[in-house]
Amino acid sequence: MKYISTRGDQSPKHFCDILLEGLAPDGGLYLPEHYPKVDDATLSRWRGLYQNQGYAELAFEVLSLYIDDIPAVDLKALCQKTYTAEVFGSKEIVPLRALENGIWLEALSNGPTLAFKDMAMQLLGNLFEYELARRGEELNILGATSGDTGSAAEYAMRGKKGVRVFMTSPKGRMSPFQQAQMFSLMDDNIFNIAVDGVFDDCQDMVKAVSNDLDFKRQYKIGTVNSINWARLLAQVVYYFAGYFQATQQNTEKVSFTVPSGNFGNVCAGHVARMMGLPIARLVVATNENDVLDEFFKTGVYRVRASADTHETSSPSMDISKASNFERFVFDLLGRDGARTKALFGDALARVGFFDLEAHPAFSQAATRYGFDSGKSSHADRLATIKDTWERHGTMIDTHTADGVKVAREHVQAGVPMIVLETALPIKFAETIVEATGREPDRPAKFNGIEALPKRVVDMAADAQAIKTFIAGHCA
Ligand SMILES: *Cc1c(COP(=O)(O)O)cnc(C)c1O
Repeated sequence: MKYISTRGDQSPKHFCDILLEGLAPDGGLYLPEHYPKVDDATLSRWRGLYQNQGYAELAFEVLSLYIDDIPAVDLKALCQKTYTAEVFGSKEIVPLRALENGIWLEALSNGPTLAFKDMAMQLLGNLFEYELARRGEELNILGATSGDTGSAAEYAMRGKKGVRVFMTSPKGRMSPFQQAQMFSLMDDNIFNIAVDGVFDDCQDMVKAVSNDLDFKRQYKIGTVNSINWARLLAQVVYYFAGYFQATQQNTEKVSFTVPSGNFGNVCAGHVARMMGLPIARLVVATNENDVLDEFFKTGVYRVRASADTHETSSPSMDISKASNFERFVFDLLGRDGARTKALFGDALARVGFFDLEAHPAFSQAATRYGFDSGKSSHADRLATIKDTWERHGTMIDTHTADGVKVAREHVQAGVPMIVLETALPIKFAETIVEATGREPDRPAKFNGIEALPKRVVDMAADAQAIKTFIAGHCA
């Protein structure tokens, strides 16, 4: 399998080349040159595999279709080392539970940092260590996080040989629990950087450093942000696992509602559907930062300024532009790299929006390319959390609540609607207490973390400052 850029660069790369890279040199995102098709027989085989041999085996099957430069025995070992019941809390890894009237919750948040990002990041940590050892190289991971990415990356990379993590986050915007999770790590290879700004300022710093090709080469800069293809690929697996748990046979369809920010999670659903997984609708749920909801309702993709990014109670979805969205648009445009480049490399920079309403693939293709969307407000979030707690005894986090709220508006008779549970409520305890008057359960291993010493440096939103810092911390 070869990989190409969404902006037209066709120079073929293999999986392990792009594993350690961020953006493609032309500024685009990497995608496989085609999506392997999963036929009915394969789907049945995978169903049995997941049920009888477990998630790691299913992950190996999916990954094998996209990775041809890691020997199969090694790839299988990496999957088995990653997806264990000890790390993810159950044999199913992503157990499905019924919520109400055709709505199900798929738990993606029982990993080390209690958010779905562990699903991909834990694999990435093992892939990175493997590949760097194989090459005898080192890597400095530079990332931007609004909370969950950063902690997932740090817990995946801590203590790993050959890797340092430099993680920027918007100062004071993460929940106390999230800050404690990240800043309490004392590992020598982990650096926390609190930036004076919002998430997009952090992301812009990362992009600026990545676009400085000389610096990037000299300091071996890599990324673990959701634009990393390996992360997206790892996420494809749980769409299959969710489908197998919700259905008996391959003639059945399911829909997914996905709490969305950077469009990474739901983009993996898009890939799973392109491979042939019987998905009826993919429903994008946003919070008050409704860039994506606006797009799927109107065809207009209009990025917001940092100043117009709302600080919400589902903070991991507080984005003004969705960094993975370009992948979806590339597919929507029939994989036209020149057109994608004109939209993302030019129109957005020049006028701040583009309009695909009239594009036939968007207006027809079973309407909106099989997507629906909805948004949720703080009041909706509180009402949904309170309601699922009082009526079902199920406590859900704020992001999942956005998903449930929107899923209820889109559920169709006879089609299971799977809401991806993207975090545990304890990560956002303040809002849970506001909604229910009750503290969410806290896994014992996190008792008292807010009181632990913190390791973090403050920095202005300035690409030069982060370069200087990185240079100063690489031996
Ligand atoms: C990252 C995150 C999201 C958004 O996922 P995207 O891939 O950015 O769309 C939603 N919920 C939680 C809890 C997250 O950590």
